[in-house]
Amino acid sequence: MRKIMKFGGTSVGSGEAMSRTADIIMSYDCQRAVVVSAMSGVTNSLLEMIEDARKEVPEHLNWLRQRHLDAVRGNVSPDIMPEYLEQLEYRLSGLGHLIHLYRQDENRIMYQDALASWGERLSSLTLSFVLRARGADSLALTSEDVGLVASGPPGNGSAVLQATECNLRRTLVPLLNEGKVPIITGYYGADGRGRPLTFGRGGSDYSASVIGHGVDADVVEIWTDVDGFMSADPRVVKGARTIAEMEYGEAAELAYFGAKVLHPRTVEPAKRKGVAVLVKNTFNPLGQGTRIHGLTRTNKDLLRSVALKTGLAIVKIYSSELVYQPDLVARVLGAISADGTTIYAVSTSLSTLAVVVPVESVQEVCSRLKGFRDQVEAVKVKEDAALICAVGDGMLESCGVSAKIFAAVADVGANVELISEGASDIALNFMVGGSKAVDVVKRLHELYIGA
Ligand code: ADP
Ligand code: ASP
Ligand code: MG
Repeated sequence: MRKIMKFGGTSVGSGEAMSRTADIIMSYDCQRAVVVSAMSGVTNSLLEMIEDARKEVPEHLNWLRQRHLDAVRGNVSPDIMPEYLEQLEYRLSGLGHLIHLYRQDENRIMYQDALASWGERLSSLTLSFVLRARGADSLALTSEDVGLVASGPPGNGSAVLQATECNLRRTLVPLLNEGKVPIITGYYGADGRGRPLTFGRGGSDYSASVIGHGVDADVVEIWTDVDGFMSADPRVVKGARTIAEMEYGEAAELAYFGAKVLHPRTVEPAKRKGVAVLVKNTFNPLGQGTRIHGLTRTNKDLLRSVALKTGLAIVKIYSSELVYQPDLVARVLGAISADGTTIYAVSTSLSTLAVVVPVESVQEVCSRLKGFRDQVEAVKVKEDAALICAVGDGMLESCGVSAKIFAAVADVGANVELISEGASDIALNFMVGGSKAVDVVKRLHELYIGA
C-alpha cells in the first residue's frame, strides 16, 4: 500500500493541529508521502507582503517565526530543536533576501510565485521535525527537490505529468521504498528554468494528486477541516451531508465550479491512473470521509451536491453578424481568453454571445473587445453574478429535472441570468445575481437533498 496524504492549512495551523496531523500520519505504517499546505493565514500574509510595499519585512519575518515556533512548542524534542531552529532561520533569511530582491527589481512578476511558495517551505520543515520527534524517519523536501515540473502563467501553473513522473521515480520512490516519510511542499512546481510556479489558491490538493499519479499511489488522501465532500458548502448550508462515494467527474465539476474543498484540478491526475481520492477530516479521523473513484452508480439522486462560485461577471457581446460570420465567435472567445482568462460558461443566440469570466478580468476583456469595433455593436457587463453548479443523475435524460431546479430559483425570487445545460450529463450550471445566490443554494438543498 502506497499513499499520498495531503494536509491543508487548518490541519497544520497550530501546535495542536500539527500534533493531530502527526498522530494521523503515525497511525499508518504503509508507504506514505505527505504533501503540506502553508499554516493557515500564512499564504495570505505573503500575498499581502507582495502587494503592499509598506509592510515591514522584519515584522513580517518575526510573525512567521513566532507562528512556527508556537507550532513546535511541546511537539519537538530538545535533542533536535537546535537543528530545527537553524533550518528555520535559514529559510526565513532566504525569504528576507527574496523580498529584498523583489522590492528592488523592475521585473517583479518573476518573484511573486517564489514568494508565495514560502509558507509551504516553512510548514513542511516544521511538520517533518514534529514527526521526527515522534520517531518517524521523516525529511522535508521541496517541489524542486522532488522534481515536480510545472508550466503555464504565473499564479496559474499546471503540472507537467510525464516529466514529473520520471523525476519522482528517481527522487521519491526510493525514499518510500526505504520507509522514509517525506514531507513535501504543496502549492507549486518548478518551471523549465527551475523557478517556482504556483497552481493557484488551494493548489496543494492538486500537488498531492500529481504526486499520487507520479508514484502510482493506491490512494491520495486530502485531509481537511470538514467530514468529506459534502452536498453543499457546510458554511452556507447548515444541513449539508457528507457524500460517501463520488464518481471522478462529479467531484471535478463541483470543484471547478466552486466547491472549495478540492482545488479545481485535483481529480484530473488521479483519474488518469485510476488512483482513488479520499477526502477526510483531520479533526474527526474516524469519520468515513468521501471516496472519489471510477464509480458506477446504482442509486439515482435528482440532486447530489450544489456548488456556488461567486465573483463572476457576464459579458454580453451584441453583434448582428454573429451567425453570418462563422469564425467570429471563435475569434471573440480567443481574444477573451488570450491572457489566460478563464471562461466559465458561454451561451449564444442569434445576435448575442454571453460569456462568463471572473469579475477581475472584466476591464481587460472589454479593452480587448474594442478590437472588434467593426463587427460588434455593443458590449454590456453584468457584474456581481454567481454560478450555481447542480450535480445529480439524469440531468440530460430525465424529464422535468431542470423545471424542478428552476422552480427552486423562482421560490426565492431570483432571476436566472444564463443557463449552460446539456454540455454535461451530470451537471446543470446557471447564473443568478450574487445577492440571491446563497438563498438559491439553500432552497435547492432543502427541496431536493434534505434540510
Ligand atoms: P484546506 O485548508 O484543508 O485545503 P479549504 O478551506 O481549502 O481547506 O477547504 C475546505 C473548506 O471547503 C471547508 O471548510 C468548506 O467550508 C468548504 N467547502 C465548500 N464546498 C464544500 C463541499 N461541497 N464539501 C465540503 N466542503 C466544502
Ligand atoms: N497555501 C496555499 C493557499 O493558501 C495552497 C494551499 O493551501 O493549498 O492557497
Ligand atoms: Mg484547500
